[in-house]
Amino acid sequence: MIASESDTIAAISTPLGEGGIGIIRISGNEAISVVSKIFRSPRGINLNNVKTHTIHYGFIVDPFTEEKVDEVLVTVMRAPNTYTREDVVEINCHGGYITLKRILDIVLEHDVRLAEPGEFTKRAFLNGRIDLSQAESVIDIIRAKTDQAQKIALEHLSGRLSDKINQLRQFLMRICAHIEAYIDFPEEDIDGLTEEAIKESIKHIIDEIKSLVEGYEKGKIYREGLTTAIVGKPNVGKSSLLNALLMQERAIVTEIPGTTRDIIEEYVNINGMPLKIVDTAGIRQAHDIVEAEGIKRTMKAVEQAELILLILDSSRPIDCLDEEIISKIIKKRVIVVINKKDIKSKEFKLPDSLKDKPALEISALMSEGINELKELIFKTTMTGRYTQEGLLITKLRHKVALEDTLNALNNALESFKRKEPLEITAMFLREGLSFLGQIVGVVTTEEILDLIFSEFCIGK
Ligand code: GDP
Repeated sequence: MIASESDTIAAISTPLGEGGIGIIRISGNEAISVVSKIFRSPRGINLNNVKTHTIHYGFIVDPFTEEKVDEVLVTVMRAPNTYTREDVVEINCHGGYITLKRILDIVLEHDVRLAEPGEFTKRAFLNGRIDLSQAESVIDIIRAKTDQAQKIALEHLSGRLSDKINQLRQFLMRICAHIEAYIDFPEEDIDGLTEEAIKESIKHIIDEIKSLVEGYEKGKIYREGLTTAIVGKPNVGKSSLLNALLMQERAIVTEIPGTTRDIIEEYVNINGMPLKIVDTAGIRQAHDIVEAEGIKRTMKAVEQAELILLILDSSRPIDCLDEEIISKIIKKRVIVVINKKDIKSKEFKLPDSLKDKPALEISALMSEGINELKELIFKTTMTGRYTQEGLLITKLRHKVALEDTLNALNNALESFKRKEPLEITAMFLREGLSFLGQIVGVVTTEEILDLIFSEFCIGK
């Protein structure tokens, strides 16, 4: 069957594994009639005739043999007030893989095809329920690692970013309209809009977009976490610090499938900012591995990291191994963690090369200074400008579109100042408008859409 946007689609929408319930979601014109063919209600209910947004108890059967497959609750939701704006049926069955798979197979025998990754959300976009930036935030809600990250994603889903972008687009459209009216009817006054006012308006939009772009670094950190490496020679207290950081929060451990157990990520929640600590397996195995291997691993973690927590042992003087590590990380964003302050030696002296890096004395073993360290991490990484509303963009795609808009608007402003023909200014403004439109999806290509929705998993 060639995939089409008018097909009825189905997928298992809950994670595969054992659970109390599992959900199969079906969306499209045939959703209700197909499920009605395989659903048997003890009260003889025919799903084709039920009211919208109602739930019905019964059994899913194999329609050829009438064999019962599972006891279920079926939710019937008719267009347009549904996730996809199409008819949607959700079958709540028992949450085991075999049950879910059998029901899905039976559904797929009836002119229904398996949904592609993200296809339910893509339909919500194509059918106009949400715009593109809202659709993208669905995946961020699902993947959020901290409350704060989830909150930002939910704000985007509720349309806060879209509202802001649309407000900027309208503002820009008004300027365009004025200029274009003046091009067409130069003898008329452009609604009292002076040259100065036009310049100021363009500058105002440029400024707003700049602050959105500047918020990206922070937004990205909330969304993806800040990749952090805990670095130091053996025995300085790396794994003690990791444990102290993790102790306050139940850690989320992600083992990346298909790799060795080297790459294990753990997340620490720092005021809602997820700190993604890399090579935690390496840190914990440090005692079993030879020094050269240790350095190699450290360097790999350092390369990936956006933040380095450099641990020094203050119970003894700095030695050449410390110096070697310092020389390798000095160019990166570093916080110096001076550990073992409970047994600090008089001979310990912070090397001059680290004098202008933020530093803090702690005792990982006694869990002293851990909150202060979290505070310092937050302050060091979350500085900079927010928009007035505190709105954060979190996606590279949005940042690129905003930067392209900025470019176009700067060109417009320059050409206006140089008193070039107004058509040129208008052309640049239109270009800016089109880049802004890419964020909410008024201007998109099939290719961009495929790229965005392929990030989703099946069933979303
Ligand atoms: P790593 O090799 O860098 O991971 O170091 P560990 O975390 O395994 O710590 C090495 C040793 O230092 C262990 O015996 C820890 O108990 C001890 N240690 C770690 N932090 C402190 C601290 O703050 N004070 C004291 N007194 N000992 C510590």
